[in-house]
Amino acid sequence: MNRELLEEQLAGLPLYLYDFLDPKELEFSQRIRWICEHECPMYGKSWACPPGVGSLDSCQEKCLSYGQCLMIATITEVADISDIRETLATRPEHEAVTNQVRDLLRQQGVEPYILSTEACDICQRCAILDGQPCRMPGKMHPCVESHGINVIPMLESRGLEFQYGENVVTWISLLFY
Ligand code: SF4
Repeated sequence: MNRELLEEQLAGLPLYLYDFLDPKELEFSQRIRWICEHECPMYGKSWACPPGVGSLDSCQEKCLSYGQCLMIATITEVADISDIRETLATRPEHEAVTNQVRDLLRQQGVEPYILSTEACDICQRCAILDGQPCRMPGKMHPCVESHGINVIPMLESRGLEFQYGENVVTWISLLFY
């Protein structure tokens, strides 16, 4: 892959930051999976979330089967970060940028495995609710947390903070290749 070219192209996108990392640097935590199961209303309701994504071990194994990971982040300022509707309204823009980065990798003949934000909302009603397979497995991105990944230590190791400001929404995607 031509990393120099990719970085030139990434510089033209509205990213707050990006970085390349070894997937082995990522922290996989049972605690994150526990939060999905006990505190997230989407648990079991999307193929992009546990348990549909598979066991924590299988998710970790999949991520570690790749040699590189490109982390991208976008930030958006909102009037009130506690307003979930306003916060979630900033998500499609991040997903669009994630897909732009995917396309840049594809242009170089690389097909990344992508983890992104929240539960997939491509379909109005996820097929998992009807016991059917995902309708668009090539388009949907499981969420980062679904794979038990705690991004905070990875950000901190780079001197970065997840919470950029009081009313700033940070979205993160990981593209494994
Ligand atoms: S593409 Fe549709 S079926 Fe697949 S995870 Fe997303 S919402 Fe569910």
